[in-house]
Amino acid sequence: MARVAVIGAGIVGACCAFTLVREGHAVILIDPAEPGGPHAASHGNGAWFSPASVVPMSLPGLWRQLPGMLLSREGPVRLRPAALPGLAPWLLRFLRAGATPKRARAIAAALGPLLQGCADRHAQLAEAAGVPSLVVRRGLLYAYRDRAAFEREAFAWRLRREQGVVWHTAEGERLRALAPSLADGLRFGAHVPAGGHCTDPGAYVAALVAASERAGAQRLRGTALGLRLQDRRLRAVLTARGEVPCEVAVIAAGIAAGGLARQAGDRVPLAAERGYHAVFDAQGLPVPVPVMPADGRMANTPTRHGLRVAGQVEFAPAGAAPDWRRAELLARQARRLWPPLREAPLRSRWMGERPSTPDGLPVLGRASGCADVLHAFGHGHVGMAAAPASAQFLADLLAGRAPALDPEPYRAARFRLA
Ligand SMILES: Cc1cc2nc3c(=O)[nH]c(=O)nc-3n(C[C@H](O)[C@H](O)[C@H](O)COP(=O)(O)OP(=O)(O)OC[C@H]3O[C@@H](n4cnc5c(N)ncnc54)[C@H](O)[C@@H]3O)c2cc1C
Repeated sequence: MARVAVIGAGIVGACCAFTLVREGHAVILIDPAEPGGPHAASHGNGAWFSPASVVPMSLPGLWRQLPGMLLSREGPVRLRPAALPGLAPWLLRFLRAGATPKRARAIAAALGPLLQGCADRHAQLAEAAGVPSLVVRRGLLYAYRDRAAFEREAFAWRLRREQGVVWHTAEGERLRALAPSLADGLRFGAHVPAGGHCTDPGAYVAALVAASERAGAQRLRGTALGLRLQDRRLRAVLTARGEVPCEVAVIAAGIAAGGLARQAGDRVPLAAERGYHAVFDAQGLPVPVPVMPADGRMANTPTRHGLRVAGQVEFAPAGAAPDWRRAELLARQARRLWPPLREAPLRSRWMGERPSTPDGLPVLGRASGCADVLHAFGHGHVGMAAAPASAQFLADLLAGRAPALDPEPYRAARFRLA
């Protein structure tokens, strides 16, 4: 069993720490911030555990729509012009990643095994961590104006079917039972029964970390500044509070992972895809199942704090202040979607950064320059859902077991060839 330093305590680091400590490794979890806090993407996301998220963000033909989308003030994607020079190479790679049906299909095939059974995996982790009520398995609903709008997304649903995703279409009474207060304009739904959601992602991350500590993991409140390597072997993680000697390090630092990965021999193009949420006090609004409307692309999720409406992609220069108009836009869309919310005040709003690779696949597995360093970052839009399978993959690697996943699509070295 190894002494493993896990760098970063978001959902990915928390799942890695909990999985590895339960396998008998001596784990030390390093993060300067409180696990589950609002600084991390894992705090304020849409909270969906969706096996249907296999559809890449980059799809054939997107290049025609993207310029208009990026400049629209009311759409789901926004580019602040000052971000363009730094972002251009990433954007080109992003467009290329899903430019043909074959490429989009390859991404879906790599996301499939990470997302399959994700709600069940989380339910097991939540149970083991003593917080079973934080994971709910009632499925997820994708909502459309009508059947024709659903059929216009036939390619996306074909990709889902190819990855074993099952759904049931719903109209009329059946749709009302799933989403009783939904606006009349949405008359068609696809219910994915294997999906689930988290009622408080921040509390869930904190609970996984606490459970890791109860199982024997240590925590170090500090920033990992670098790796001490000697003859391609890892000796220690360097932190602001001194060296942490270890045999293995897991880089799970979300959007900040790039610098550490470079020290281990891998240059990974990571972009911060900023997202926002707005929370409504939605007492009296029945939302039994989370809903994603096709127009607007935002998760509407019942949480312990109210109805959370999460989405938007914003590219902005590093360190730029949040543009709260993006959260207001989500709130306006939610008021249209749920007529009872028309007069409801907003309870809170939030901005966070998705750690995104151009192909939408995480970077998992051994670093190119040092086999003792394991990557676990770049989960973009699917980090909540994919964290347990990512952690299991690393646990299998460390144990010398044949992993359930083909490691190839997640290797950091794929960006050298692109
Ligand atoms: C609006 C929005 C909606 C989303 N909706 C969903 C959804 O419905 N379903 C889904 O699956 N995904 C969703 N996502 C994506 C998901 O939230 C992310 O992929 C996921 O949270 C990333 O987790 P992480 O642990 O890699 O990073 P983070 O949660 O950002 O955690 C990284 C941690 O590393 C720490 N850290 C950073 N640098 C260092 C360092 N040098 N040393 C030590 N620690 C360090 C940070 O303090 C932080 O705690 C959404 C994201 C957003 C923004």
